[in-house]
Amino acid sequence: MTTPTPPSGRGNGMHHRHIYLDGAWTAATSRCVIDVIEPATEKVIGSAPGGAPEDVDLAVRAARRAFPGWADTPAKERAAYLRQVADGIERRAPELAELIAREVGTPIGFARIAQVGLAALAFRTAADVGETYTYEQNQAQSLLIREPFGVVGAITPWNYPLYQVAAKAAYALVAGNTVVLKPSELAPLSVFALAEVIDEAGLPAGVFNLVSGTGPVAGQALAAHPDVDFVSFTGSTEVGRTITRAAAGTVKRVSLELGGKSPTVLLPDADVDEVVPRAVAAAFLNNGQTCCALTRLVVPRNRKEEVERAAAKAAEATRVGHPLLPGTQLGPLVSAGQRDRVRRHVQRALGQGATLVTGGAEPPGDQPYGYYVRPTVLSDVTTAMDVQHEEVFGPVLVIECYDDEDDDQAVALANATPYGLAAAVWSADRERALAVARRIRAGQVEVNGGGFNPRAPFGGYKQSGNGREHGVFGLEEFLEVKSLQL
Ligand code: NAD
Repeated sequence: MTTPTPPSGRGNGMHHRHIYLDGAWTAATSRCVIDVIEPATEKVIGSAPGGAPEDVDLAVRAARRAFPGWADTPAKERAAYLRQVADGIERRAPELAELIAREVGTPIGFARIAQVGLAALAFRTAADVGETYTYEQNQAQSLLIREPFGVVGAITPWNYPLYQVAAKAAYALVAGNTVVLKPSELAPLSVFALAEVIDEAGLPAGVFNLVSGTGPVAGQALAAHPDVDFVSFTGSTEVGRTITRAAAGTVKRVSLELGGKSPTVLLPDADVDEVVPRAVAAAFLNNGQTCCALTRLVVPRNRKEEVERAAAKAAEATRVGHPLLPGTQLGPLVSAGQRDRVRRHVQRALGQGATLVTGGAEPPGDQPYGYYVRPTVLSDVTTAMDVQHEEVFGPVLVIECYDDEDDDQAVALANATPYGLAAAVWSADRERALAVARRIRAGQVEVNGGGFNPRAPFGGYKQSGNGREHGVFGLEEFLEVKSLQL
């Protein structure tokens, strides 16, 4: 593997010493600094302040002060600010994509589209939705008013560090809330760049605040803060539970976007040669670190060998390499811990009786350094195995079988996890695919390859969460409902 020369732009590092508070870059009260490690090189490329509860408190106070003025700002003006943010993201797109490729390990081509392009699109879409929404309407002899909550605490993960922030901040802000953001400590650098963009867009002081830091310190303080009205969280199901408990003290609203173990259901009449390469690519999106990655391939038993051959071919053709190289399709995982966890998952699955189709837990031989995992396909996976229902969060696809022509069994198997975030269904018969899709307990189901819709609600059933982001649902998430009895 060739390693590209260090990227242009900000040289070898991005070391931040200030948090964004009340419209200004301010030294954090805590002297703690958290290093950011580049997963492809295992080297420190930047750092961010480890904010303390006092920093969170200052940010919440600033957001509270800014709230009345921002809530009274017409939606059209708020939307105009968001469009400026979208413009700013687009202006800095190459730099942002490079930053995310470096801090997360996302292949650069995918980073441009899904990490940066979608973030700008979320700001733009939120502006359109928020500007045209009807905030007041008469209903059953009452006047219904939808108004912002107040201060929103946003806590976000590392896997799509900019896009996940956009999904929350853009909709919270256009709805008239003010925001205190706590990004992931593993990949905060692109979020600092976003705060610069927001600053340049001239949002009033205190409307958006950024406090970097660890989950148990800054995140916990934000979730528990008595003057935060709403906590919007995206991350693991386990931390979602912790946040819910922290928020319970003040009975604040909590919205959770959590993990997944999402199936691709291949019905007996589907075209294996078309579906399987797409299923493999969908499982390996962002190096398999995508909440809605389709990591399970549910297939009729009599097509198992055919599916295994096609999956092995597609996985082995996946180009593993440095995320900044243009042809790379699979980069390293975000951290050594994540890599080791994924390898343990593979080992345990094999120990529990899964069959290795390709890949495996051993380090890839051709990567001298970096947190790489082999693109892996496991077969003969059953509901008795942990890998069938636990989120792996790496490039690992599992194949599960149902009895041929038994759509009921296919649906039951697809639903046999504690999660319900996403799914895909494939059939030569669209009506059959639709009938199966309706029965899947998940927030979004792709039917025969149906594409991404930035206005469609995104969120989970079961332990994948309880909220919806994007579009009108994403806006209403951040609006309280009041009825005036006339
Ligand atoms: P994580 O739960 O470890 O961390 C998410 C955020 O929570 C981080 O900012 C972290 O610092 C913070 N945090 C950790 N402990 C905390 C605590 N005790 N109190 C308050 N905050 C705390 O998740 P991650 O590893 O960053 O991201 C991967 C997970 O996110 C996966 O499970 C993935 O499925 C999920 N995810 C879900 C969606 C979705 O939309 N449903 C999208 C992306 C990622």
